[in-house]
Parts: sequence; structure tokens; C-alpha cells
Amino acid sequence: MTDHNSSPLALKALLQTNPFVSNTCEDDKFHDECGVFGICKHPEASAHTVLGLHALQHRGQEAAGVVSCDNKIFHSHKSLGHVSDNFNSKPVIESLPGDSAIGHVRYSTAGGAGLRNVQPLFADLATGGFAVAHNGNLTNSLTLRQFLVSKGAIFQSTSDSEVIMHLVATSTYLNLIDRFIDALRRIEGAFAIVALTKDSLIGARDPLGVRPLVLGKLSDDSYIFASETCALDIIGADYIRDVEPGEVVTINDKGIHSVKPFPIQKPRPCIFEHVYFSRPDSLCGGTSIYKVRKHIGKELAKESQIKADLVVPVPDSGTPAAIGYAQQAGIPFELGIIRNHYVGRTFIEPSDQIRHLGVKLKHNANRGELEGKIVVLIDDSIVRGTTSIKIVDMVRQAGAKEVHMRIASPPTRSPCYYGVDTPEKDKLLASHMTIEEMTKYIGADSLDFISIDGLYRAVCEADRNNEAPQYCDACFTDEYPTTLTDKDQNDTPKQISFLNDIGPKF
Ligand code: SF4
Repeated sequence: MTDHNSSPLALKALLQTNPFVSNTCEDDKFHDECGVFGICKHPEASAHTVLGLHALQHRGQEAAGVVSCDNKIFHSHKSLGHVSDNFNSKPVIESLPGDSAIGHVRYSTAGGAGLRNVQPLFADLATGGFAVAHNGNLTNSLTLRQFLVSKGAIFQSTSDSEVIMHLVATSTYLNLIDRFIDALRRIEGAFAIVALTKDSLIGARDPLGVRPLVLGKLSDDSYIFASETCALDIIGADYIRDVEPGEVVTINDKGIHSVKPFPIQKPRPCIFEHVYFSRPDSLCGGTSIYKVRKHIGKELAKESQIKADLVVPVPDSGTPAAIGYAQQAGIPFELGIIRNHYVGRTFIEPSDQIRHLGVKLKHNANRGELEGKIVVLIDDSIVRGTTSIKIVDMVRQAGAKEVHMRIASPPTRSPCYYGVDTPEKDKLLASHMTIEEMTKYIGADSLDFISIDGLYRAVCEADRNNEAPQYCDACFTDEYPTTLTDKDQNDTPKQISFLNDIGPKF
């Protein structure tokens, strides 16, 4: 394998770990998880992978990587920073030859930042070269890692994906794809994975389908896996279907082969993909994210309408819901807040005084629209509430008569263990405040959230089935759809000493 790792943005990475560097608005959101992309049988596999990753950049901005396979030889390039900063030259693309490639954009959910955790991971196994890229989070990763270490495994990174790699390496099955499936049977939690062997491209989704993965087609032979359909659009590929929850799809010279190697469970895809994570121009479960977000706004207006002069989105993520709200409520929609798209993650805010200006660096009030008006602000979620405080204040300072906040998701009360970076529970405003307390805290005249049933109605045209929920909604309901092995064992420390006896689940 040739390895072309580089870190041209080392300074940028250093700055990102600097406590004085922040992006205030982003820090008050659930962070997108990661994005994966894979393509086979295309002469420009790496270039298409880079384009696909570019379309998925919103799912992770800390690092990106591509592994290609050319006639059984694997090639890799990984870098910290954005795709467009690191995969923008002909030499880089030429260093990734071959007709198959997989790629990954990363937000460090598990394992922390740093080049050694950048995916795809590659290893020369007894059964041949194997590369893997993973979106999601394993809920038994630490347990498995401790077991593997006790058996002699040496880890080079702290990412979940290396656990998968070790499980594949140590599986007793003969065939590499069988080993991969064996590994998947041992992991718990959320995963959408693309993997590459010397002759196959593989896409796999966890049994509940928590994280998304779609299958597309570019030409007769060339198939694609991607986290979202926007990555198909950018290269002109057709969307075929979602990879089904619990499905492992293998594509090679023999064609497309699909298996479902896990016990069948009722799917529980992440409902937050519809609210915030996915791009509005993507399809999720075959449905337009943009349309769903507008429906969320309409349901929100039905549940919590107020007499107002203007509906104003907190851009960009609140915009589709605000359009829906305005249409349902019959209130004019205006861009009362303008977003500066050129504020990057590396903006240095060297003092507390300047750091408090953070929200104005990214958002500015459109005074002419707001002055003297009763405004309904629409945002997708409230996490810590820090952004809401600043946005409400900014709109007031611009002369709004009243500022009412409406949120296109229920109160976010619990952290996510499935590959989304969330603050600890006690940092989530809704975990320790009533709506009345939150209203005072953010300084709004009123605050309300869509109900969980309202959100379900917008997403799937039915109320939540409380006996068998249709989606993962744990960050709103605290009802996690899988066991949380690592967390539970952490909560009961005395069991940890027996981990080696317990071993991984089969
Ligand atoms: S806990 Fe929330 S963010 Fe995490 S997978 Fe479930 S719905 Fe999505």
C-alpha cells in the first residue's frame, strides 16, 4: 500500500485545539456525525469519491480520507481539514489510482481528533487488503477493545473503526466478506459502513438502520454507496434505493449480492437526520428532507401559532421549517437574519470580549426588516441555548417589538450514543429547565417546541407508536433503541474487572 498522508493544515489543526478558537453557533448544535462514500468499477473512482465527499462535507469538517484499489494494490490519502483544501490537486488524485475507492469525512465522535483516527482505515490482512470507513458509533466499542487488547491486539488509533478492523482480522472465517459479516455481528450500536477489498465494494447498515446509507448507480457497472443522495447528485448518479437496515450489500464481478445476517428488528432510523443533519436536497428513506422540514414547520404552526408580523429563520438550518411555518400561519416570511458564509472554523477569537461577538461573526440582523415588528424566530433545535440567547438579543437590538422563538424539534434532553457529538446531559438546556425557565434564560417573549407526535406526523404521517417507535428519538425521549453496553458498564464499575471473562457478544 502506498500512503500519501499529509497534514498541510497542521497549523489549522493546532488552532482547532486552541481553547481560544471557537465557532459559537456550531458549538451550540448537535454536530453532524461522519459521511461515507464508495464507488466501484469507474476509471475515475478517486475523483468521484472526492466529489462525493465534498457533497457530504456538512457531515464532518475535521478530516477527510480516501482509499483506492488499483489491481489489488491499495492507496491512501488522508488529511485534517476540508475536502476542498486537501484533495484539490491533480497529483493527489493521481496518487489514488484504481477503479474502486472509498472515502470518509469525519467529525470526531468517538476516538478524538488527530490524523491517526482519520478514516478510511486500511490493513493488510491474511485474507488480503481491507479498507473500512464508518459513520456511527458503537455502543460496545470499549468492551470489545478491552477484550481484544487482552488477547494481544495492538491498537494504533482510538476510533471505533479499528475495533471493526481487529474483529475482521481475528475472525475464524476463511473468506474476507464472511469475516466482515462475523465482525458486524459482534458490534452493537449504529453503523453505516463502506468497505473495500481487492475485488469487492461492500456497504452495510446496522440492524436498526440508525445511520443512513444509500445505493446509487453511475453507469452499467459502476455502483455507489453514500451517506446521502446529495453525494449521488454531484456526480450525476441515479439513486436506486436505501441500503436496508441490517443489510450487507456486496458488489463485485459476480454482480450485486445482498444478505441480512442479523436477527430481524423493527427499523429505528435517526429522526434527527430529518430535522438537521441531512442536507435539505437529500432524500431520506426516499423522501425529500426539504419537504419534511417544511412539514415540520407546518405542524409546529398548527401546534403553536402566535400573532406576529414576520416569520424569520435562524439560517441556514431553520429555513425550510420557517417557510412551512409561515405558509401554514399565513404570516410573511422574511430573511431577518443574514448569515455570513465565509466565517470558517479557524477564526481566532482571542479574548472573552471578542468571543462574545461570535454569533455576530456568523449572523447579522437585517435591521430594516425587523424594526418595530413582532417576530417569530424559527430554529431547528436548542442544545445549550447559548446561540439562542445571542440571536434573540440581536433581533431585539435591531428593533423588534417582540421576539417569539419556535423550535422545529422537541426539547433535546439526552445525549446521543449513535455517532452524533452531543454535550453531556447536564449541558443540555432542556435536561434541567422547564420551557418557562428556558424562555427566561434565552430572553424571548415566548418559546415553544414541536411535540414528539407533531414531529412524527411531519416525518411519517403518523403519531409516535409508543409501544414500538418508528424512529430513534432518544435525544428527545431518553428511550435508547439498543443496549448501551459501554455506558452501562461504566455506570457499574465493578463489572469492568470481569470484562475479559465476558468477552464480546456473538
Ligand atoms: S439519539 Fe437523537 S441524534 Fe442520536 S441517533 Fe437517536 S435521534 Fe439521532
